[in-house]
Amino acid sequence: MKTIKTDVLVCGGGCAGSAAALASARSGVKTLLIERAGFAGGIITAVGLPYFDGLIDKPTGRFVVRGIALEFLRELGLAKPDAKRIDDLPAHLITKYWGSVNIPNTDEFKLLMDGLIRRHSEHLSVLYHSLVCDVETKGGLITAVIVANKDGLVRIEARQVIDSTGDADVANWAGAPSEKNPEMMPLTMHFRIGNVTPNKEMYPAAKQALVDAHKAGKMPEFYGPGLIFAFAKDEAYIHATRIAGDATDAADLTRCEMQGRQDAWTIFREWKEKVPAFKDSYLISTGPYIGIRDTRRILGVERLTVEDLQTCRRHDDAVATGCWFLDLHPRKTSDKPFTGSAYQPLPYDISYRTLIPQKVGNLLVAGRCHSATHLASSSSRVTVTAMALGEAAGVAAALACETKAEVATLDGRKIREILSRRDAGPFTDAR
Ligand SMILES: Cc1cc2nc3c(=O)[nH]c(=O)nc-3n(C[C@H](O)[C@H](O)[C@H](O)COP(=O)(O)OP(=O)(O)OC[C@H]3O[C@@H](n4cnc5c(N)ncnc54)[C@H](O)[C@@H]3O)c2cc1C
Repeated sequence: MKTIKTDVLVCGGGCAGSAAALASARSGVKTLLIERAGFAGGIITAVGLPYFDGLIDKPTGRFVVRGIALEFLRELGLAKPDAKRIDDLPAHLITKYWGSVNIPNTDEFKLLMDGLIRRHSEHLSVLYHSLVCDVETKGGLITAVIVANKDGLVRIEARQVIDSTGDADVANWAGAPSEKNPEMMPLTMHFRIGNVTPNKEMYPAAKQALVDAHKAGKMPEFYGPGLIFAFAKDEAYIHATRIAGDATDAADLTRCEMQGRQDAWTIFREWKEKVPAFKDSYLISTGPYIGIRDTRRILGVERLTVEDLQTCRRHDDAVATGCWFLDLHPRKTSDKPFTGSAYQPLPYDISYRTLIPQKVGNLLVAGRCHSATHLASSSSRVTVTAMALGEAAGVAAALACETKAEVATLDGRKIREILSRRDAGPFTDAR
């Protein structure tokens, strides 16, 4: 089997992994990013989601994350170098009600990531179309990660590994304890419909068409109408599909993907037939992948809880700031996208130790599968928070290589210092 050696291996090039790989390479250590898709960006590019949530503290409008997340917006020409508040961003890309910012073109994010990876090529390389599928361990350390790609099975030996697969695949295979909620949030297939002529009557009519289709047994569950015009005035972006399943089970994930695609086409056909605004429309695309909200989360050496959010518990080793509301999606048909209190916390600390799994010394887990309770992670899972956690993991993995330590034994306060020097937070307290 072919063997590749690197200092830091980042598994999964989504929100967390993209930031982790860049942060590690910037520290001057040899970094390799592995991504199963033919592009980086995760939910943004693989599912088509344009939202940068977790950037803005809704009540005050100030940014609670800067660093690489803000750099992405700058590189896309959407934020000025000194942007610090919601009003420093283009008004048409802001939804003040949610404290949300959306990028105008998700495909451009693929190009941005390719460009940034090339710009860091002295220390960073990437293998797309490569699926992490197993690990080798010895004495509580990962000695190799196995990847399947066009070369066949490839062994990658890394000093430090970052699991940013969203599903804690690497942590799970390495024997680190993790949990899955029995009621995991549903998956959603996003899709886009072109040549729509929007009007006010469209929303109730679109909703009624979904209710009728659901009653007629054409669509098991939905949220609706989940109809947004984020990209163009005549282009609908829809997040109305809702499929309960376990995305860590290959057969169930396949079932969900097929159901999501079928539901997307059902919704499109129902609207085209019954809602005049969609009479001349056409379905542009689904996916490319179904969106996965919720699977494994590691049981790390520290765990973010709802009480931490509610009491704004401070951590000396905070490496990121969260701010999104408790955004828990129901598995069944409902009017609202979320269920529960939708509690809006004040900006809160996320400790470095929520990235450290138990039992594996040279592994960090960043992104939605970091260590948090089910409810707390409904806030910390959003895109920009995931980027901040990824940046922290990248800095930490590089520091571990430089100091010949393992990531699990590093003092999070040192990582915080480096992040602060890079203007990457945490920014829990107002500045
Ligand atoms: C339908 C949906 C809607 C959402 N809406 C919003 C929203 O409006 N705003 C918001 O901020 N957040 C939203 N979220 C949440 C947010 O997008 C995710 O929680 C966030 O992307 C987490 O980042 P991540 O890096 O952990 O995962 P991802 O961005 O999903 O990245 C994981 C990456 O790992 C790769 N990967 C996975 N397994 C492997 C493997 N074995 N080998 C190699 N590569 C692998 C994937 O291809 C992917 O690129 C939504 C999520 C979903 C599913």
